[in-house]
Amino acid sequence: AKAAGRNCFSYFTPAMQQAALDRLRMSNDLRRALDAAQFEVHYQPIIHLMTGRVVKAEALVRWLHPTRGMIGPAEFIPLAEDTGLIVPLGDWVARQAIARLAQWRRAFNPEFQIAVNQSPAQFRSNDFTDVGWVQELERYGLEGNAVVIEITEGLLLNAEPRVNKNLLMFRDAGIQIAIDDFGTGYSSLAYLRKFDIDYLKIDRSFVEDLDGIGLDLCEAIVVMAHRLGLEVVAEGVETERQRDILARIGCDYAQGYLFSRPLPAESFTALLSAWPDPSAP
Ligand code: C2E
Ligand code: CA
Ligand code: CA
Ligand code: CA
Repeated sequence: AKAAGRNCFSYFTPAMQQAALDRLRMSNDLRRALDAAQFEVHYQPIIHLMTGRVVKAEALVRWLHPTRGMIGPAEFIPLAEDTGLIVPLGDWVARQAIARLAQWRRAFNPEFQIAVNQSPAQFRSNDFTDVGWVQELERYGLEGNAVVIEITEGLLLNAEPRVNKNLLMFRDAGIQIAIDDFGTGYSSLAYLRKFDIDYLKIDRSFVEDLDGIGLDLCEAIVVMAHRLGLEVVAEGVETERQRDILARIGCDYAQGYLFSRPLPAESFTALLSAWPDPSAP
């Protein structure tokens, strides 16, 4: 056993050692970043295709690192999940998003909604109540259905008791549920009914391929979703052509660089005030 141990150790190359050190440094930085207020929530508009109105926003977190500049979530969310920091970070994002939502509902649209991403790690490691969703919503006099949580298919596939319980508590609070990156994971259609899912978000890879098989896939998803009473959001819409095709096949909402990149809250407020009102003469 000892020899095997030494053998294993010999595979730990200098490059791996460097990677482990980088990870350690980053996870220390990450832990401090929350106290140092280095995170910022950006908001990307979600457009109702039939009316052209901005009806929702997705909250997307960024890390404003003191030396490395702005770091995208793909670079630090996995680490935050591994270290457990995702729980306080996720709670912080949710509180920020709810406060903004209250402001935008008062100023622009009393039915505006905010979508917040939830990692599987958040479902497994804490109770629904930790985030204080209900208290936080009550604080601003908001109904549960002002908020949408975005989760991935994997979470529902073999939902453990705690995941189940937390999902049902979201449901009971009236909070809506969207399946993110739909079609990229192991899909089981049974769970769409079981958990009374509200939205499917079609993954960007299908939208990119609307001239190929993506078109058939998007159409099939829209038809199925509507039959089950769900609405569909297309992600990663970058061209007018993509928007027009999606509108034609009956997709309900679209999100992507065509409309706007994710924006800091102040810029998003400006976007809402400048957005053309299609009902105006
Ligand atoms: P996601 O939930 O699938 O978010 C959509 C991603 O696509 C965002 O990347 C967004 O900026 C990007 N995007 C939007 N429109 C377009 C487009 O037209 N073209 C292209 N190429 N990309 C577009 P972002 O902000 O880097 O976020 C990456 C992922 O990080 C998110 O993917 C989500 O899974 C995760 N994430 C972000 N914020 C949070 C958070 O607060 N909590 C958790 N748990 N995860 C988060
Ligand atoms: Ca998302
Ligand atoms: Ca997505
Ligand atoms: Ca429903």
